[in-house]
Amino acid sequence: MRYIIVGGVAGGASTAARLRRLDENAEIIVFERDDYVSYANCGLPYYVGGVIPKRDSLFVQSASGLRQRYNLDVRVKNEVTEVDRTSKTVKARDLKSGKEYSERYDKLVLSPGAYPFRPSVSGIDDEAVFTIRSVGDSDRLKSFIQENKPQKALVAGGGFIGLEAAENLINLGIDVSIVEMQGQVLPPFDYEMAALVGEHLKKKMVDLILNDSLVSVSRQGKNLAVSLKSGKEIVADMIILSIGVRPDSSLAKKAGLDIGAGGGIIVDEYMRTSDPDIYALGDAVEMMHPVLGRPVAVPLAGPANKQARIVADNIVLGDVSSYQGSIGTAIVKVFGLNCAITGASGRLLKSSGIDFVSSITHGASHAGYYPGASMLSIKLMYSPDNGLVLGAQIIGQEGVDKRIDLIASVIGRKGTIYDLTRIEHAYAPPFSSAKDPVNMAGFVAENILSGKVRIIYWDDVENYRDDSLIVDVRTPFEFRAGSIDGAVNIPVDELRGRLGEFPKEKRIIIYCAIGLRGYLASRILMQKGYNVFNLSGGYMTYISAI
Ligand code: FAD
Repeated sequence: MRYIIVGGVAGGASTAARLRRLDENAEIIVFERDDYVSYANCGLPYYVGGVIPKRDSLFVQSASGLRQRYNLDVRVKNEVTEVDRTSKTVKARDLKSGKEYSERYDKLVLSPGAYPFRPSVSGIDDEAVFTIRSVGDSDRLKSFIQENKPQKALVAGGGFIGLEAAENLINLGIDVSIVEMQGQVLPPFDYEMAALVGEHLKKKMVDLILNDSLVSVSRQGKNLAVSLKSGKEIVADMIILSIGVRPDSSLAKKAGLDIGAGGGIIVDEYMRTSDPDIYALGDAVEMMHPVLGRPVAVPLAGPANKQARIVADNIVLGDVSSYQGSIGTAIVKVFGLNCAITGASGRLLKSSGIDFVSSITHGASHAGYYPGASMLSIKLMYSPDNGLVLGAQIIGQEGVDKRIDLIASVIGRKGTIYDLTRIEHAYAPPFSSAKDPVNMAGFVAENILSGKVRIIYWDDVENYRDDSLIVDVRTPFEFRAGSIDGAVNIPVDELRGRLGEFPKEKRIIIYCAIGLRGYLASRILMQKGYNVFNLSGGYMTYISAI
């Protein structure tokens, strides 16, 4: 058998290694148009910032290492330019010599990744404008920084890579402005969760410019003058473009394979393209999203690596292994704040016409009486019909990763909020509480679905203000430090004695700091026959989002 793989990094290299482990006799050729194979693209921003000090640490395997250990025919600096499905051959070009040649395949695997989007803006091709995709990109960026000692950088795009780049540049002593087209950083997150991150960035001295974008870049001596859509001008020494990636599907498109609406190569659950002898994986593909029920591209390393094993198994053993689609579980560290997401966001569910309820809970990362606990904010999305968990977002410092992984595994198994209430977690005071924040998120969701509490969201307060009484049930001290306009203060512990102050004919909006005391107050008032709504996520969510 002759297997050809296009792309030698995350998905390609993993597929090749697994193919060899399953089929010692096959001929396996890996084409990589860049200089390197099997490296950690995810580590590149940290290499630029010096957190990963040694360049060598980025390489999982070298081309020669892959040849020696796996007997792979690895061809770096060789680009596949065409696929002829009729003759089952690929046309390739040796980028050093310019020589063109063809190779025959029995099975072809496409793992060409995704390319960073470049807006069509004048001056964008200046040598001080960078993207970060490959080792070569980060080498160029690193040597630019070393040689030019930039004082000021503009990061275009406040997504995962943009925020990682911003943090690493600031750690190098470079001032950073982030320009983000949307009204929030981390576009996959919902607004009120991303607002927590936006506040944190400002505290870290990042100049955050939202609802704006680049319209032109021009050289002013050693500097770049950047004009923004708002009319604002920024002078910077360098720009990092991180405004999203697009599936690198041009080769597949030219070969006539089915391409999805998002530009990704369409594959089935066996990772087969519309041609049964061609498999595809990684950032370049579109697959059915288990929650949204439509094909989407999920450009993440975890799915690419897991799909690689499945592709190799299916090629060698027949279609034995299926992939259920990625729910986009991801995490990013932003100046000590960890931000994680899984499943569908509220925004995506809404635009997809999927009915959902959401709730926000804030809780301690471990038992409050044990030193060092930090706040963990969880937004959970679930079906109002059966409590199926549809998505979650978590922002905090300690333990964000394990909580998002718990919820991701529940979503992956089509579990419900009732499953979240019953998750048995490892507990001792330094690690969690007897009721983990994930259990608590489940309890709150269960209370909402069973009608034990009715909630109102931060962005509904204004809509209902005119015919509502807004009651802050925190202490007078907390109330004085900041409250919702027009709210009256009746602390939860005084509430039973002050029921006469609550009108029966009006809607009552209750809030506290994070939602817990508001829930206690709601239970008292609901049982006394009042029309009461608790503010989801409390004042903490309201004040950061408003
Ligand atoms: P890649 O790993 O990009 O490999 C594709 C390779 O194919 C490229 O090297 C390309 O040169 C080659 N190629 C393309 N076309 C051809 C051709 N015609 N001929 C020959 N070779 C070709 N994901 C996470 O989950 N967590 C993270 O923290 C994270 N951080 C990231 C940080 C950065 C800076 C970047 C760039 C990505 C990050 N990712 C992260 C995404 C992750 O790296 C990708 O999801 C993963 O690498 C996808 O694997 P792939 O095989 O599809 O593509």
